[in-house]
Amino acid sequence: MNLSRHTQAVKPSQTLQFNKKALEMIRAGIDVIKLTAGEPDFNTPEEIVDAANDAMRRGYTKYTDSTGIVELREAIARKLCEDNGLDFDPGEIVVTNGGKQALYSLFKATINDGDEVILITPCWVSYEAQVKMNGGKPVFVTAEEVDGFVPDPAVIERAISTRTTAIVINSPNNPTGAVYSRQFLKELARLSADHDLLVISDEVYEKLIFEGSHESIASEEGMKGRSAVVNGFSKSHAMTGWRIGYLAAPRHIAEEVAKIQDHLCSNVNTIAQHAALRAFSVDNTRMVEAFRKRKQVLSEGLQDMGLQFVIPRGAFYFFVDVKGFLGSDYADSLELAIAMLEKGRVGVVPGSAFSYEGYIRLSYATSEDDIREAIQRMGRFFGEITAPPS
Ligand code: GLU
Repeated sequence: MNLSRHTQAVKPSQTLQFNKKALEMIRAGIDVIKLTAGEPDFNTPEEIVDAANDAMRRGYTKYTDSTGIVELREAIARKLCEDNGLDFDPGEIVVTNGGKQALYSLFKATINDGDEVILITPCWVSYEAQVKMNGGKPVFVTAEEVDGFVPDPAVIERAISTRTTAIVINSPNNPTGAVYSRQFLKELARLSADHDLLVISDEVYEKLIFEGSHESIASEEGMKGRSAVVNGFSKSHAMTGWRIGYLAAPRHIAEEVAKIQDHLCSNVNTIAQHAALRAFSVDNTRMVEAFRKRKQVLSEGLQDMGLQFVIPRGAFYFFVDVKGFLGSDYADSLELAIAMLEKGRVGVVPGSAFSYEGYIRLSYATSEDDIREAIQRMGRFFGEITAPPS
């Protein structure tokens, strides 16, 4: 029996696989600290949970417009205007099952077989898989650690071909925590205009920023018609399990996505949509401040171990250089991450999951106590590795 070439070309998500393995060990009674998936450990704020309960009691348990309830799309349009200076109307917004589905639908709506999509590595694991599942060809551009993992526009330009249809950016960045400057976005806007490229801007970590400010590429002059903005509630409001995100895109693209939505899932869970509507009036400062503190604790712990990393300016990850531990006991970041979990009892994600070898990603969306314990365990684990030949 046939299987699709497109899905056979991709592997399961490594972030989810490592998270699953860590959870299985915990369930089996093994004491593992989980720095794997980027999932806030906080409960969803009470007000949001109450809004979901209310929605159910008031009978909001039926289908909605496939692009989402109009009140939510209006609230999203207001948010995009107030926070990002963007002028999208509700007809250009689609509510999706998490940011992940927003991205998938954008690729589905814009890629024809063999089209190229530029991805900046290190990059989140699912971009490559989603491009391939939609018949596209990922073209990787490397962002260097010495540049704080911000890509060089000249290198991006060299990667553009006649088949390039889109470029994906993600700021604040998973896995590096890099935050792109206005200057970088201006240069990217020029490339987009010169080469007629759609910029897909994944902004799900927008509210988790510790240094600098978040700027959306869509607010650059002329870019509203060339940008698709993806955002969601998972990271900002500890709503990972609700599966709710959204996209805002030029109308002709949003309309294509709406068709996909019609045929794929009818609409996002109605109750989750009403809960998300409430999220706009919930302040997440308490969570951001907790992440800031955790970042400090982990940063000091990693520094004490002599590890090298770029201090993240946003999101909730450290992307740590482990090249010095590879080549003897462990060949690559995957082997190292497996050993860290099985022997060191600390779950991390290998850099190879982000198309970047020689690094591991640590999520600090977990409690401060767990972070302190993870530091102790990593210190012992790294201390026992045989030094690779120099
Ligand atoms: N986006 C999060 C991460 O990178 C959650 C897992 C996933 O969807 O990949 O860990």
